[in-house]
Amino acid sequence: MKRTTTLKEIAKGKQWDFVIAGGGATGLGIALEAATRGYKVLLLEQADFAKGTSSRSTKLIHGGVRYLAKGDVSLVREAGTEREILYHTAPHLVKDLEFLIPVYEYIDRLKYGIGLTLYDWITGNYVKNTSGFINAEDFIEKVPNLKKEGLRGAVVYHDGQFDDARLALNLAQTVAEQGGFVLNYCKITAVEKDAAGKIISVKAKDELTGDNFDIPVKILINATGVFADDILKMDDPEARAKLRPSQGVHLVVPAELFPGNQALMIPKTSDGRVLFAVPWHNRLILGTTDTPVDNIELEPRALNEEIEFILKTAADYLNKPPSKKDVLSVYAGLRPLAASDPGKKPKEISRSHKIHISESGMLTMLGGKWTTYRKMGEDMIDEAEKNFGWKKTNSRTKNLPVHGYKENTDFTQPLFYYGSDYKFIKESIDNDPEGWISKIVPLHKAQIKWAVENEMAVTLDDMLSRRTRAILLDTREALGIAPAVAEEMAMHLGEGNDWVNQQLDEFKKIAGKYLLD
Ligand SMILES: Cc1cc2nc3c(=O)[nH]c(=O)nc-3n(C[C@H](O)[C@H](O)[C@H](O)COP(=O)(O)OP(=O)(O)OC[C@H]3O[C@@H](n4cnc5c(N)ncnc54)[C@H](O)[C@@H]3O)c2cc1C
Repeated sequence: MKRTTTLKEIAKGKQWDFVIAGGGATGLGIALEAATRGYKVLLLEQADFAKGTSSRSTKLIHGGVRYLAKGDVSLVREAGTEREILYHTAPHLVKDLEFLIPVYEYIDRLKYGIGLTLYDWITGNYVKNTSGFINAEDFIEKVPNLKKEGLRGAVVYHDGQFDDARLALNLAQTVAEQGGFVLNYCKITAVEKDAAGKIISVKAKDELTGDNFDIPVKILINATGVFADDILKMDDPEARAKLRPSQGVHLVVPAELFPGNQALMIPKTSDGRVLFAVPWHNRLILGTTDTPVDNIELEPRALNEEIEFILKTAADYLNKPPSKKDVLSVYAGLRPLAASDPGKKPKEISRSHKIHISESGMLTMLGGKWTTYRKMGEDMIDEAEKNFGWKKTNSRTKNLPVHGYKENTDFTQPLFYYGSDYKFIKESIDNDPEGWISKIVPLHKAQIKWAVENEMAVTLDDMLSRRTRAILLDTREALGIAPAVAEEMAMHLGEGNDWVNQQLDEFKKIAGKYLLD
């Protein structure tokens, strides 16, 4: 997966079967589906893979207990099936996690007990016999920081957890291995149509060099998440908005505030949402919120009231709740919710996906979840074949190992997320034991060389936010090591001081949004 390889392929000027706009979960899932079915595929991402919503999730691969409570059985079943597929295709990044729901009233034990048994049936967990009930004493032993007053126990269930940006990156690598082409920092700027009004090519700009391309294509797919309306307007300036974006915020705090290997799920917060406390990379993630937004940005900022809401809800349940000074980072993401019913609040809008077909032949994916990215890809390529009268082909992605696939992953090992690639990085680490830049996030020089040479990392933000998750794990530490990381990257990229300074300025601006005031 190299930028130069994709740029050379674009320069040949040949017609692509599919050009996919957007390198988040949705675009990558579609690109992989198309590449594995033998199509000529090009995915263009205006920034970095997963720079948008796909690196800002709650990090759950889940059926969605909340969706079951809303009666969205088909979404829960679909997501449960996809969860099982991911356990088998990306076992280096997706793992089973135990969730505990605190119970204060016996009626809740009954309600959640029945609900979660149903959840297990629908998502296919029932055979594993993993859900159940534990009494208050056992619960407190597992989670000593939990408030005891009135606690009757906890309902236990299981779901999946993952590293979102790393899965996106590994999917991009899998697309390349399957004969597709991917390019980050390349923005689609316009579409060109024939006399019948059908799209025949796209214009795109390399954001790193300023080069512009005309790219002939049979089918353009709009997989740009919360930016989908921009591409719809590029295609038809009269197009009506199809999205209702909603912001979700998470706080990352030290794991000690909620020690153990299980997650806490608070089923009904004061605003009627669900709040999770999830252990992740030796930290704890708390979230999330659901705030309607009009302003669509690649780097959205958490609102003060969202931060206060998360801290206050955690304080309702924990003896020693996190305070602002405990917060290692705060991150915000925008949900690309399909605007089906203008009267509904964001939390009431279904998370299932929809495909919109424009008169120009462009297909747009609206809504969806990370968990269902593969099924969304399958549905999109099926729809494209049907709509264009192409021969129907079969999906091959259900059993396709994702790049980095490794069985029996030791998730306690800090660099577990490299999966089968870890052996190459470990060899370099062993050869240079002094090469650690940070043990806190953690980051070794070997990871930088690896990311530049094998993972298409071209900016400091790529390295500190998505090739490693330093910005989320400890924003201040990420800022502290940024100069050393930038110097090392510059060496591998063949860049000089100007590049280093410009990258540092840019990263400081980004990291500022992850710090509490
Ligand atoms: C707070 C929050 C928590 C969530 N938690 C979970 C969870 O735990 N589990 C789960 O399953 N789902 C979760 N989701 C949902 C999931 O994260 C999203 O559905 C998914 O990431 C959306 O992916 P996407 O590819 O559609 O959008 P994005 O990831 O935003 O990708 C779209 C990409 O398009 C690019 N782009 C835009 N315009 C152009 C252009 N002109 N040319 C080229 N590229 C362009 C953007 O740069 C962007 O990278 C969560 C969402 C939020 C907001």
